[in-house]
Amino acid sequence: ASGYTLLRDPHYNKGLAFTEKERDAHFLRGLLPPSYLSQELQVKKLMEILRLYQVPLQRYMSMMDLQERNERLFYKLLIDNVEELLPVVYTPTVGEACQKYGSIFRRPQGLFISLKEKGRFLEVLRNWPEKAIQVIVVTDGERILGLGDLGCQGMGIPVGKLSLYTALGGLRPSACLPITIDVGTNNEKLLSDEFYIGLRQKRATGEEYAELIEEFMNAVKQSYGEKVLIQFEDFANHNAFDLLEKYSKTHLVFNDDIQGTASVVLAGVVAALKLVGGKLSEHTFLFLGAGEAGTGIAELIALEMSKQTGSPIEDCRKRIWLVDSKGLIVESRFESLQAFKKPWAHEHEFVKDLPEVVKAIKPTVLIGSSGVGRTFTQEVVETMASLNEKPIILALSNPTSQSECTAEEAYAWSEGRAIFASGSPFDPVEYEGKTLVPGQANNAYIFPGFGLGLIISGAIRVHDDLLLAASAALAEQVTEENFEQGLIYPPFKNIRKISAQIAAKVASKAYELGLASHLPRPENLVKYAESCMYSPVYHHYR
Ligand code: NAP
Ligand code: MN
Repeated sequence: ASGYTLLRDPHYNKGLAFTEKERDAHFLRGLLPPSYLSQELQVKKLMEILRLYQVPLQRYMSMMDLQERNERLFYKLLIDNVEELLPVVYTPTVGEACQKYGSIFRRPQGLFISLKEKGRFLEVLRNWPEKAIQVIVVTDGERILGLGDLGCQGMGIPVGKLSLYTALGGLRPSACLPITIDVGTNNEKLLSDEFYIGLRQKRATGEEYAELIEEFMNAVKQSYGEKVLIQFEDFANHNAFDLLEKYSKTHLVFNDDIQGTASVVLAGVVAALKLVGGKLSEHTFLFLGAGEAGTGIAELIALEMSKQTGSPIEDCRKRIWLVDSKGLIVESRFESLQAFKKPWAHEHEFVKDLPEVVKAIKPTVLIGSSGVGRTFTQEVVETMASLNEKPIILALSNPTSQSECTAEEAYAWSEGRAIFASGSPFDPVEYEGKTLVPGQANNAYIFPGFGLGLIISGAIRVHDDLLLAASAALAEQVTEENFEQGLIYPPFKNIRKISAQIAAKVASKAYELGLASHLPRPENLVKYAESCMYSPVYHHYR
């Protein structure tokens, strides 16, 4: 290939990091200015430039440009500055990017499959340049983050999630495929937006929707085999639970909003119990919000309780209560409840408002997963603090503006006794001379390592025990030193090491359950996981 082509191929381009020898060998003379910059210096330079941008979306676009220009440098930058850049390539900035995707769209970063392609999905998949696909993240754009229906513009989410699979979990970029299934949108603003990139029609539903998804799932399995991981992302909850249930029997599927969230929050709870004491089954849980996150977490907690105690899961569920937009979920509401809420309809009188519910249920753990901010009021937190020596309070709703309460509020209203973590990051808080560090229950702790574990073991199905294994692996990474600061998650900067630990535990469980197809089982799974991880360091071209 000519030097010019080399510079324009993001897989091979190294920019000023091409050595003198490489410049001679690959016809690059004159195509680059004379100076040489090492990859480390390129990273330093780019970070300086990124920090000059005041508008988050500019940083996002600059990162996307880099990904298209020089893939290894993009990943090196992201890996070396993960805490600073995660909010740029993922939440919250990616949300804004999706909202404006029509205007900032330049080049496809994934596959768009729409109703127009019905009957031709196999052909569409063949058009993607890479053939050895290991992970697909797919959305239908109906519930993007907390932003609602963004239709085809949801593409930013699969693209962002997959760059985290690579940066944090070490999956090869070429093995990752972002897909958006466009079945229309009910977002009137987008439908009348002249720059909207998707189908201009109302969402297909019912049979039509189900048939399209079925064709998609079959085409994927036919193209990439049994071991391709399909991650459902940001589907509305009226589809998410059903799709997961249906396809978990025939495909390797994972829903991060339900299962990933559950695993990361369970890890935090398990870690918190080391600070608070008591077994999981001795605690009482109350959720504000009974959607994908809330019921997903609740179910995994119940499963772990059941494993620990040997009691039937139905009994364990009784220690867990949920509140939805109508109030406490109780037996008298059973008939009118959506299927995924029914297991939580326990015997109790109906109570409407959260402060009253807290007084009635007396939870030891309070979890916010409603997407509605400012709901853990002073009264709610004070009640938790009066009921518990160390109340566990998790305010999971994103973005920061929707957090149920701030870290500062949780500590102040509980006299510094709360064990607090949140969905969006909060800075450390000074409380009476002590620095309290709130943890962030970020899904990015789990899904990259979880996916890596599935891939390296050649798993063909996801099993709930694999989620429990991932949780346990994450909880084990919290050190004494972390606990002393009130942290219930390990520092994020170690994420690649954490991912390898999670991958090893997940893979080990997959082997134990007979779900693994990569045989024989590698002796040391942590070492094996690490050896499989993609490194963004430049190759030397001879
Ligand atoms: P979802 O499926 O739409 O569920 C939202 C739930 O909240 C529904 O049960 C809804 O009630 C309930 N709700 C809405 N308004 C309420 C109110 N005023 N009072 C009480 N309940 C109310 O959404 P999701 O996927 O579960 O996500 C929920 C939130 O969790 C989002 O903010 C998301 O960012 C956050 N989240 C955080 C993490 C993390 O920290 N790692 C992970 C995932 C999600 P109805 O059922 O009656 O409509
Ligand atoms: Mn999501």
